[in-house]
Order: sequence, then structure tokens, then C-alpha cells
Amino acid sequence: MEKIRVCVRKRPLGMKEVRRGEINIITVEDKETLLVHEKKEAVDLTQYILQHVFYFDEVFGEACTNRDVYMKTTHPLIQHIFNGGNATCFAYGQTGAGKTYTMIGTHQNPGLYALAAKDIFRQLEVSQPRRHLFVWISFYEIYCGQLYDLLNRRKRLFAREDSKHVVQIVGLRELQVDSVELLLEVILKGSKERSTGATGVNADSSRSHAIIQIQIKDSAKRTFGRISFIDLAGSERAADARDSDRQTKMEGAEINQSLLALKECIRALDQEHTHTPFRQSKLTQVLKDSFIGNAKTCMIANISPSHVATEHTLNTLRYADRVK
Ligand code: ADP
Ligand code: MG
Repeated sequence: MEKIRVCVRKRPLGMKEVRRGEINIITVEDKETLLVHEKKEAVDLTQYILQHVFYFDEVFGEACTNRDVYMKTTHPLIQHIFNGGNATCFAYGQTGAGKTYTMIGTHQNPGLYALAAKDIFRQLEVSQPRRHLFVWISFYEIYCGQLYDLLNRRKRLFAREDSKHVVQIVGLRELQVDSVELLLEVILKGSKERSTGATGVNADSSRSHAIIQIQIKDSAKRTFGRISFIDLAGSERAADARDSDRQTKMEGAEINQSLLALKECIRALDQEHTHTPFRQSKLTQVLKDSFIGNAKTCMIANISPSHVATEHTLNTLRYADRVK
């Protein structure tokens, strides 16, 4: 598997959207090609259709299930962490485009967390030497450049780079889990904390990055392999930097900065001897390990099919295109 995989997932039109008369402007041409049909007004006020063509490692249409997405994106990463590697999976896109659906999913259609958890515990069972490995989980969010522990009542956390240049999050709660069910329970609990946060200035989930790390450790608690899942802040928030009120502007600027830094850091993975600018944002700083050494990354860019979202969809596709 290559070091970076960039995929796009188109969600179906929702019932409300259909009722409002919104139309689908995205065609999944084949498993690597996607078309965007954009209506434009010409000088003489007639309309014409502009077609944009994009190529990715994998394109998922609305008929794809979370399992289909899992097999082509996260499953190879699980192999990698059992070889002692470091893996990261990002869900990128506008609010409402399907990031959380992809990561958490539903009861009938479990998301990447659940499918990865099942895979990890199955792998631990099938091989004798792996029975001495244990699964640990942590879950925190980054809001306005600050870290909050979602498994410890949103306690404020601080990242520190030690003398060996390893970034540590001091006091981050890590829980050992011994079953898929327990792991998912912890994730659901943390997710609730995310949206109903107890602090005054509450970040709704579109304004924060949620980071789940699942680590495989030996009995001396040394990390053997690790996979991180990041449900990123809504990419449309990056444009709020131009917005009116001060708080929104600040949040927008922060998100903009972190998404730009993220793009540069992922690109650097494929280019040996280039500088990785992980210090340019809190997000990339805490994910430093994801961008160096034996690391593999997958990005899933989620898009809405609706004509109403054309501008944001094109922004998402251009961002994903540049990550490669
Ligand atoms: P985001 O996390 O990017 O803001 P959500 O995951 O919350 O977006 O998705 C927005 C809405 O669209 C939700 O109601 C979700 O259930 C629905 N949805 C997203 N992706 C799909 C999909 N692939 N199939 C069916 N419904 C989806
Ligand atoms: Mg979400």
C-alpha cells in the first residue's frame, strides 16, 4: 500500500433535500473518476453546464456502504499497524457531507471505528504472539487550538515536545479495552461529550477536530502500533475567517490554518528530505508521528451531491486533489 491514499465519498441526497427540489450534480464515472456538473450563467444570461473532472485513488458513490469504504481505506491500515506501523485516517469535508456517518455510522451500517475495532480484536485472537498485545484508546478534541479530553470531562490538556522531539499530551486519559463493545461504548460516550461539552464556549462539532487513537501495546505498555481517526472540523468553517463576529472569525482562522498545515504535512510524507511543517498548527503538532517515519495516511473527502453545495464541494475536491 502506498503512503498516502486520497478517496472521495459522495453521500446520497437526503429526503428533505429532494423535497426542496435540490438536484444531484455529482457523477461517479468509474471507481477513480468523478464529475461535477456546474450550472453557470453566460453573458447573454443563458445557462450552460461546466464539467469538472477529478481523479482519486478511489471514489465511492452513494450506493457504497461503510463496509465498502472500510475495505478500501482503513483495512490496509490495520495490517500496517500490526506490522508495527503508524496509521492515520482523516474524514474531511463540509458540515453535513457525511464525515461522522463515515466514522461512526449507524446500527445497520456501522462506521470505520466499529469495523476497525472488530478487525483489531480478530487479529489479536488469531495469532498466539499477539495475545500479549492489548488495546488502548484515547479520545480528545481540538477547539480553537486547545486540547480537551473527551474521556475525562473535557479536561484541558497540553502538548509538549520532549527532549527526544516526541510530542506528548500530558495527562491524556487512556483506557484499556478488551472487547469491540467496550471500545465502541467509550467512543460513543466521548462523542456525546463532544457535542454537549460542559465548558462555557461550546464548540459544536463542526468547529472542532475530534481525534481517536487506538493503540496496540505490549504488557509493559510500550506502543507496538497505532491508528488515529480524525473527524475534522467542517471545512466550510475555514472561510469564517472573513466573518463578522470575533469568536467565529477566530475559530475560522484557526481551522483554516490547521487544514492548510495538514495538507502540507500529508504531502511531505511522500517527499523525502522535505521539511514537514507540523509546528504550524496544533492539529499537525499533536499528529507529528502521523507524518514521519513508518507512517501511512488515508484521507476520505466527504461531499454532498446537492447543487446548493457546489462551491464547498469544489473546494473539498480541490483540497483533496492537492493532498496527493
Ligand atoms: P458531517 O459529520 O460531515 O457534518 P454527517 O455525517 O452528520 O455529516 O451527515 C449529515 C447527514 O447525512 C446525516 O443525517 C447522515 O445520516 C446523512 N448521511 C451522510 N452520509 C450518508 C450516507 N453515505 N448514506 C446515508 N446517509 C448519509
Ligand atoms: Mg459530524
